[in-house]
Amino acid sequence: MSSTTRSTPTAPIPLSSKPAGQANPDTKTACIRTFGCQMNVHDSDRIRRMIQDAGYAEVQRYEDADLVILNTCYVRENAVDRVKGHLGELNRLRREGRVKRVALTGCIGAAEESATLQQTYDIDLVLGTHNTYELAEFVGLPTMLETYTPELPGTEGGHNAFVTIMTGCNYQCSYCIVPTVRGRMLCRPMGSVIAEVERLVAGGTGYVTLLGQTVDAWRHEGKRFCDLLEAVSESTPRVWFTTSHPSNMEDRTLRAIGERDTIVKRLHLPVQSGSDRMLRVMHRGYKAERYRRKIEVFREAAPDGTLTTDIIVGHPGETEEDHEQTLKLVEDCAFDSAYIFKFSPRRGTEAASLPGAVPDAVVQRRFLEVLRQIERNAFERNQRKVGGVEEIYIRHGSTEDGKAIGETWSGHAVHVKTGVAPGNYVKARIESAGPHVLYAGEPSG
Ligand code: SAM
Ligand code: SF4
Repeated sequence: MSSTTRSTPTAPIPLSSKPAGQANPDTKTACIRTFGCQMNVHDSDRIRRMIQDAGYAEVQRYEDADLVILNTCYVRENAVDRVKGHLGELNRLRREGRVKRVALTGCIGAAEESATLQQTYDIDLVLGTHNTYELAEFVGLPTMLETYTPELPGTEGGHNAFVTIMTGCNYQCSYCIVPTVRGRMLCRPMGSVIAEVERLVAGGTGYVTLLGQTVDAWRHEGKRFCDLLEAVSESTPRVWFTTSHPSNMEDRTLRAIGERDTIVKRLHLPVQSGSDRMLRVMHRGYKAERYRRKIEVFREAAPDGTLTTDIIVGHPGETEEDHEQTLKLVEDCAFDSAYIFKFSPRRGTEAASLPGAVPDAVVQRRFLEVLRQIERNAFERNQRKVGGVEEIYIRHGSTEDGKAIGETWSGHAVHVKTGVAPGNYVKARIESAGPHVLYAGEPSG
C-alpha cells in the first residue's frame, strides 16, 4: 500500500447502512464517486453535467442512487483495491434492489484489468479516459460521436474551477501507468483556454486551477506554458496550476509566479528521488542538482511561497545510499509538504519487471524517515507565519466547528474562524501552525 503525508482529493467512502430512500421517488438519481487526482475530479465535473442533462438528480449515498458511477484511478495498486471494495458493496446493494446500474470510468476503465473487473462485479458499463462521451447514450442522451478532446469545457461556474490545458503525457517514467491509460500529450489551443477562463470568471469563478499531467509541458503554435500562464493571470483574479515536470519548468515561469499578483505563490514540482542514479533508472530526465537550481530560482522569486513535491520510496534497486540522497534533498529544499508514495508495481510498466525489489519493512522505514523530515521542515516553515496577518481566500465554507478552510497568497492552507461564504477573501491573524495547516483567529473587518 502507498501512503501520502496528506490525503489525496478523493471523496469519502459512502458505505452507509442507512435504509434505502430517495428524496423524490419520480426523479432518476445518480451518485458519482471520484478516486484519484484533480484530473479525475475534473472529469467527474464533465460526467456530472452529462447526468444532469439526462435528468438525473445527484445524490451522495449509493443506496439513494439508481445509477452509480465510479470514476477511478489506476496509479497505485491500493487505488484499485479501494475501488474493488466499493464494487463489492455495490453488488450487495444491487442484490437488495437499492442500486440499479453501475458504471466504471476513468483510468481503471482504460486498463486491461477492467475486463476482468467487469466480469467479476457484473459492471454495466466500463469506459476509459478517452471515451467518457459514450456515457451520454448510456444515460439516455443522444449519442455523442465526438472523440475525446481537451477542448471540452469542464466546470460550469462555481467559485473554484479546474481548466484542463493538456491531457496525456509524453514521458515514460519507469513506474508510471499514466501514459498507458491517458495516452500521449494533447495541448489545448490558447484561445480556447482563455475563452473558457473568461466565461468562468464572468460566471462568478474567483479561482482557476490549470490542470494537466505535465502542465508546464504545454505548448501550442509557438507559445509555451509561461505565455499561457501570463495570459490567464490577466483574465482571472486568482490562478494556480498543477502538476509540473522539472524538465519543463522554465525559470521565467518561476519568476512570473513571484511577479504576478494573481498567481498563487505555490509550486508543486514532483522530484521523485534525490539520487541521480534513481532518477536515471526512473527516466526522469534531470539530475538532483538541476532540480535544486530550479528551487533556488523559485525561493528567490517567491521567498514566502510554498513548495510541494511527490517522492517515491522503494523503487526497485533503491539502495540505502540513494535513500540518504533523497533525505538530503528533502532537507535542502525544505518542502512545505509532500505526497510520499511507496512504490507500487503496475503491470505493463518497466519498473514492474525490474530486479532489486526493496523489502516491505525497509520501504516502511524509508517512508517514515522521509515523512519525518518533511514534517519537521514544514512545521518549522509554518511557524514563521504565526503572528502575521494574511489575506485568505475562502475555499470551503465553515463546518460545524465554525471554521472555514482557506488559502493564503503564499499557498498555505488555513483554518479560519468565519462564516464567510466560499469565493470571498478575509484578513486574519495566524494564531498557530501545525505541519500541514495554519490556524487563524477571527477576521479583522
Ligand atoms: N505527472 C506527474 C509527474 O511527473 O510528477 C505525476 C503524476 S502521477 C499521477 C502522481 C504521482 O504518483 C507521481 O508523481 C508519483 O510520485 C506517484 N506514482 C506514480 N506511479 C507510481 C507507482 N507505480 N508507485 C508509486 N507511486 C507512483
Ligand atoms: Fe507519469 Fe512520468 Fe508522465 Fe508524470 S511525467 S504522468 S510520473 S510518466
